[in-house]
Amino acid sequence: MPVKSAFGVQIERRAPTKLYPFTRFFRGFEKVPIVRELFGARTAQVLRSQKVEFFSARFGYMGTSDVDGHLLISTNHLARSPIRTVYLDIVHELCHVKQFRQGRPLFYPKLSYVDAPSEIEAYRFTVQEGQRIGMSSRQLMDYLKVEWISPAEHRRLAKHCGLVAKTSTAKPHRKRIRK
Ligand SMILES: [Zn+2]
Repeated sequence: MPVKSAFGVQIERRAPTKLYPFTRFFRGFEKVPIVRELFGARTAQVLRSQKVEFFSARFGYMGTSDVDGHLLISTNHLARSPIRTVYLDIVHELCHVKQFRQGRPLFYPKLSYVDAPSEIEAYRFTVQEGQRIGMSSRQLMDYLKVEWISPAEHRRLAKHCGLVAKTSTAKPHRKRIRK
């Protein structure tokens, strides 16, 4: 481990990351048709090899590492958010996992979050699944209302996803993290 000495202290600069198998915490996703659309016949195999890292922080929700494609999930979000939100967020992140596996970029620093091709694809995909499980346009609009986008961006994201509905006054409920 490279140790850096400075200011009279030593700091180990390489910290371990604890990764767990995705399927230890999330089971049955290999049977979800839309997830099978992502990975085809290899779905079960992909999910078995998928890794997940949990972090404990009051803020933050989910993300996909653009370094090695593992998922990052807030323990607080996992434990406390509505189960439907957690489910859709996992579907969303699995879409990013697919993008990562195809060598496509997950982040587009020069674009607004809502205009990033990776996000548009993942949100469209998630909205499709939301409709399949019976969510109304309004519920989906709420789902798209993430904390760090403006009302105009929210409308744009909805439009990208083919959604037209009145926005509710619900508070934005989550945001994604990047790593
Ligand atoms: Zn995303």
